[in-house]
Amino acid sequence: MRVWIKRILLALALLIAAGIGYGAWRFGHPALPADTQTLTSGRVATGDVAVRYFGTTTLAFGDGRNGVMVDALLTRPGMSHVLFGTVASDRPLVRSLLTRAGLGKLDLLLVTHTHYDHALDIAPVAGLTGATIVGSPSTRAVALGGGVPDKRIRSIKGGERFTAGDFTVTAIRSVHSLGDRVPGEVTAPLTQPASVKAFKEGGTFAYLIEHRGFRILVHASANVVPGMYRGVKADVVFLATGGLAPHPADFTTRYWDDVVKATGAKLVVPIHWDDFLLPLDQPLQPLRRFLDDIPLTMSRIGALAARDGVKVRYMPVIAPIDIQATKGN
Ligand SMILES: [Zn+2]
Repeated sequence: MRVWIKRILLALALLIAAGIGYGAWRFGHPALPADTQTLTSGRVATGDVAVRYFGTTTLAFGDGRNGVMVDALLTRPGMSHVLFGTVASDRPLVRSLLTRAGLGKLDLLLVTHTHYDHALDIAPVAGLTGATIVGSPSTRAVALGGGVPDKRIRSIKGGERFTAGDFTVTAIRSVHSLGDRVPGEVTAPLTQPASVKAFKEGGTFAYLIEHRGFRILVHASANVVPGMYRGVKADVVFLATGGLAPHPADFTTRYWDDVVKATGAKLVVPIHWDDFLLPLDQPLQPLRRFLDDIPLTMSRIGALAARDGVKVRYMPVIAPIDIQATKGN
């Protein structure tokens, strides 16, 4: 073979290898920044608020008497389901995770919006715990499709308040992160299995959860209506961080200022940063590089937190955290 043909073939082989290598890298998970700190779990006394985290934006708050959950993605279907097929709740898995977390009974299930990564498992969670579902009219449609009786669903517009024992919840109208891939409303009861595209956004809410004067804000989609937290104070914010990286650093700054600075919170717990195509029996990992750049977002957030004297701490999976006692341990 002529030398020049050999050279072209070698160059082509190198190019293909580099392409494959780059593809694998983009498809992989980055690491969180080295200075990432996770809260330490321990026993939580009855009467104090224990928080449990299930990845993405799924959180449970309980004081030993009453319980409030935000969103419900426990099944976390794998990539082949999400890209090429349909998604459905895995009821035995939902039951076993709730049991592991000691969530036999819940009063309220607050739904931030109806994309499947927030709302897939709302019906089995309500069915297994007796929780009343709170959310948009689309949330009602997802719940009805899962067999939840209408009397256990509250449709909201924003501004409503709900109580459960010492918990008081306020629904606050918010807005979805930029680049909503599935906008619109769910207008008819949604039965599963269903396409990911059937879980339309349906309007986005944040929830302020107050417990004996301690104020927890769950802001589960990374965008904000300027001024939406005027007059609202919070001690801790569970802050969505996915979807910020592709936008200029300014956008993250305004988001931080309008949510964290506006409410005066001194503790921020990042949520919605993990790859929800991985099951919960594997460690949480940041979203894959081709979807997001979580390390970049976290470095921006870290700088804003340092500027404002705010602590950023991650939640462990399912293990209870005494959030009120947390002094950044
Ligand atoms: Zn969404």
